[in-house]
Amino acid sequence: MKFGTKAIHAGVEPDPTTGAIMTPIFQTSTYVQASPGKHKGYAYARGANPTRNSLQKSIAALENGKFGICFSSGMGATDAVVRLLNPGDEVITSNDLYGGSYRLFTKVYERMGIKFHFADLTHADNIKPLINAKTKLLWLETPSNPLMRIIDIQACVALAKSSNIRVAVDNTFASPYLQTPLDMGADIVMHSVTKYLSGHSDVIMGALVVNDEKLYQELAFIANSCGAVPGPQDSFLVLRGIKTLHLRMERHCFNGKKIAEYLRHHPKIGKVYWPGFEDHPNHSIAKRQMRDFGGMLSFTLKDDRLEQAIRFLEHVKLFSLAESLGGVESLINHPASMTHASIPKAEREKNGLSDTLIRLSIGVEDIEDLIADLDQSLASV
Ligand SMILES: *Cc1c(COP(=O)(O)O)cnc(C)c1O
Repeated sequence: MKFGTKAIHAGVEPDPTTGAIMTPIFQTSTYVQASPGKHKGYAYARGANPTRNSLQKSIAALENGKFGICFSSGMGATDAVVRLLNPGDEVITSNDLYGGSYRLFTKVYERMGIKFHFADLTHADNIKPLINAKTKLLWLETPSNPLMRIIDIQACVALAKSSNIRVAVDNTFASPYLQTPLDMGADIVMHSVTKYLSGHSDVIMGALVVNDEKLYQELAFIANSCGAVPGPQDSFLVLRGIKTLHLRMERHCFNGKKIAEYLRHHPKIGKVYWPGFEDHPNHSIAKRQMRDFGGMLSFTLKDDRLEQAIRFLEHVKLFSLAESLGGVESLINHPASMTHASIPKAEREKNGLSDTLIRLSIGVEDIEDLIADLDQSLASV
């Protein structure tokens, strides 16, 4: 089945008791048993819920994976992956991670004796000197947030596999429409479902997808033991959102390309970070491993003073100043003070994230209106 057909049909079957074409919201915490331990596959809703199950199948199908597990947030999903590790284990990851992942790794898990190495993984070879007998996990995020760097998943997987290291990919920015890391040899795909999968800025949720049954059992055990599971109402909303994922992504990509080109040619713009440009340092990898370039980009103004960036952020009208991304509406963000404030300034600057960088999550509105809004705001700086 092709992507759009899967987005609409995978995991969703008419309700056997009523024929309802849409999966009902099973708003229940428990299930009646005929005799102790004799039930219909559902005992208690932390462990399983039919609405959630349907969504898990849908997300797994979109990632070309066998097993999906949903969590109450993207961070809940990431946390479950780190819980596979033991004190003393080491993790290699990239140096421009999502701020919340960086915070979870350095502030929560380093304290518990897990060691994280942060490196520029746009050069896969940088992994090599960090590998030792304690290395258990390679955590990749590509495209990266907010600098839109692209990591070569296959090259990293090849290096990790030769040392028996598990590879997890945060696929939030790409969505399964643009990139399916399990097909490139990754062991785990993680999503902040909150973003493109949900697509309507009305749900917080996370997901993991894997192919290996034993790994699935371990993660399902963690999900049930630690309890960060999403509710049925949110599961329903995401099932609904996913039905238009392919249509939304098509428009996100179309609008993204138009805005990248518009900004690049504007005299008041400094640098534009978008992997679709042929002179983007990782363009050839992006072209190979992604189906299109997505709706996320970042840029700086030519006048690189903070007060000018803030002026611009205050003057947009259609773009809303907010954290998050991947919804139908366009958002604008100031990473240094918003999404990436949890990364220390010195660390941010070392990794090329300046205080004047502006990030756009380009929605699916009409492109003329989006460009007119950027135009009037640029006139103010
Ligand atoms: C938002 C986000 C997360 C965290 O997901 P939540 O659903 O907010 O917990 C992780 N990684 C990336 C790339 C994100 O954008």
